[in-house]
Amino acid sequence: MSETMRAAVVDEAGAEFEVVERAVPEPASGEVRVAVEACGICHSDVFVTEGGYPGVSYPRIPGHEVVGYVDSVGGSVENWSAGDYVGAGWHGGHCFTCEPCRRGEFLNCERAEITGLTFDGGYAEFTTVPAEALAAVPEDLAAADAAPLLCAGVTTYNALRNADLQPGDLVAVQGVGGLGHLGIQYARAAGYETVAVSRSPDKEPLASELGADHFVNAADEDPAERLQALGGADGVLATAPSSDAIASVVEGVGIGGSVIVVGVPGEDVPVNAQHLIGTAGSVEGWGSGDARDSQDTLEFSSLRGITPKIETYPLEEVETAYGRMMENEARFRAVLKP
Ligand SMILES: [Zn+2]
Ligand SMILES: [Zn+2]
Repeated sequence: MSETMRAAVVDEAGAEFEVVERAVPEPASGEVRVAVEACGICHSDVFVTEGGYPGVSYPRIPGHEVVGYVDSVGGSVENWSAGDYVGAGWHGGHCFTCEPCRRGEFLNCERAEITGLTFDGGYAEFTTVPAEALAAVPEDLAAADAAPLLCAGVTTYNALRNADLQPGDLVAVQGVGGLGHLGIQYARAAGYETVAVSRSPDKEPLASELGADHFVNAADEDPAERLQALGGADGVLATAPSSDAIASVVEGVGIGGSVIVVGVPGEDVPVNAQHLIGTAGSVEGWGSGDARDSQDTLEFSSLRGITPKIETYPLEEVETAYGRMMENEARFRAVLKP
């Protein structure tokens, strides 16, 4: 095997990507080396390119939607072996010994690792990942299709399945983008009456194709009024990272309904407390999931034929691919094929 690999590196916060030759990393004890087939580009990669997240050191290789084949395993790794088809997401490992870990709350680990942030991620031909951060990928999912499921997918799937929702409930997905276009598919597959909410009327045919029962053009009509006309939302999955957009749906929740925020807006979100009191409604947040949650997402996606809509790019075009994501031009997830 070649001793070096190509990798897209960020040298410091604010720097452009540089595609360089790097030594292929050796897996330490407890780690697995993955030959990367595909890595999705996520908006949270700005924490590397622009800084602003504690614990990032440079140079850093971003990428937390990694899919590939196990290439080599470090000492004491018993559950993975060479050739396994695997993925790694945002949650990049945990200590097993802190108080949250002792309670099985691995996402809240006090020493949690983040793939592509606290260690090098998938914008490269190879990466090493703690064994507990890997999910098995079903063989029928192509690597480039599976990659966005490791963050955009698990975030929306896990948020919905942990919400207090039943089949037949009215569930709106706000934002038909990287997260939202998956959220609509999961909502439909879970049996909810599914509403797509978008400020882009041209997304209506796609929303319908993805399984939405209703489309709300938020540029033209008040989404909260429309949701109330439909009976009041039991859940709104807010994927658009916009404070205004999130605030505009709060009054659309019905009795006991909730707005589940998964897209991080830059500013605080003002909410109508009176409406929340009157409906016993809530606004809550949800992160992503651990490796088993990712595997559940992948298995459910395989079972129901749910895939993201993607654009693929070679590693050399990382700057273009990243730019399309940042400019909200990617339809709907940009994926690198190192
Ligand atoms: Zn992400
Ligand atoms: Zn821990």
